[in-house]
Amino acid sequence: MKSRSASVVALALVAGLGVNGAFAQLKRDFEAEIRDALQSAKTASEFEFLGTLVRTCLLPQSGGEDTRDNVPGYVANPASAPPRDTWYAEPARVFDNLYFVGGKIHSSWALTTREGIILIDTIYPYNSEELIIGGMRKLGLDPKNIRYVLISHAHGDHIGGAAMLQTRYGVRVVMGGPDWDWVAKYPNRYKTMAPKRDIVASDGMKITLGDTTVTIWLTPGHTPGTLSYTFAVLDRGKPVNVAYSGGTAFNFVNNTPDPGIKNFQTYIESQKHIAAKAASTGATVLLSNHSEFDNAFNKNRMLAGRGNGRHPYEIGADWVQRYFQVMQGCARAAQLRLEQQSAETAMR
Ligand SMILES: [Zn+2]
Repeated sequence: MKSRSASVVALALVAGLGVNGAFAQLKRDFEAEIRDALQSAKTASEFEFLGTLVRTCLLPQSGGEDTRDNVPGYVANPASAPPRDTWYAEPARVFDNLYFVGGKIHSSWALTTREGIILIDTIYPYNSEELIIGGMRKLGLDPKNIRYVLISHAHGDHIGGAAMLQTRYGVRVVMGGPDWDWVAKYPNRYKTMAPKRDIVASDGMKITLGDTTVTIWLTPGHTPGTLSYTFAVLDRGKPVNVAYSGGTAFNFVNNTPDPGIKNFQTYIESQKHIAAKAASTGATVLLSNHSEFDNAFNKNRMLAGRGNGRHPYEIGADWVQRYFQVMQGCARAAQLRLEQQSAETAMR
C-alpha cells in the first residue's frame, strides 16, 4: 500500500490546502485501505487469536470511556453481581513459578520468587476474594507473601481487588500515572476498589523481587495509563519469555475524527512498542489480562494432558508478534474510517 499512500501525499501537495486538499483526500480509496487493514489482522490471527480479532475488528466499539461517577451496581448491591458459574475458573499452576488465579474471562497471575509474590491484575471486587485469595490457598501459596500488585489498567475488572490486597497485606501497588489520576477523580466509580496512590509506573521500570524481574512498558491506548510487561518464567526449569498485553479493546473516545484519529495513533504506537520489547526479549508466550484473548481458560485445561509435549502457552516468537499485528490491523482499520469521515466532512 506504500505506493498508493505516496501518490496521495503527492496529490495533496500538488493540490495544496483547503477544498483542493480535501478533494485529493477523497481520491484515496478508503474502502480498499480499510479492507487491507482488516485483512492484515485476519491473516495474522488465523484461529489462534479469534477472541481478539472479534473484539477489536468485528464487534461494534464503544464510543468512549464512561465518565460518570456512579457506584457500580455490583458494589452498591453485591447480590446483583454476576452469578458464580459465569466467572468461576479453577486456579492452575501454569509454569514452575507462574500461577493462574483468575476467572473465565479475566486474568490474575501470581508470579512467585524467592522473596515473595508479584501479583498481576486483581479482577473484580466480587470475585477477587474467592479467585485470588482462595485460588492461591488452593495452590499452596500464602497471600501474605504478595509484595507487589501490578495493575494493567484502572477498570473494575482488573483493579477490583487492589484496595483489599493493599489494606489486608500492605502490598505495594504499581499503576500508570494517568490511571492513578483517574481513580482519584471518580471516587464512586472505584468505591472499594481503588488503592491509595503508591508507585507510578514509568517506561522500562523494573520491579525486582528475589531472583525475578518484571519490566513495565507504557502502552497507552485502552486507557491513558495502560501498562504491559515482559518477564521470564520457568517451564520445567527452562526459562521462557513472556509478553503481557495490558489493554485490548478500543475504549477511549473514538467515534469522532478529533480526537479519535490521534487516539488510534497512540494505540497503534503502543502495540508497536510492546511488540518490539516482546521481540527483543525473545517472548514466545503471550499473556493478556483477559482469558478470552489469550485462551488461558482453555489452555489451563490442556495443561493436564500435556505429557512430554509442548507447553500449551508456548506459541513461539512469530505468533506473539502476530498477536500485536492483529491489534494494529484492527486499530488501523478503525482509524481509517475516521480519516474517511474527516475527508468527507471537509468536502461538504
Ligand atoms: Zn479495560
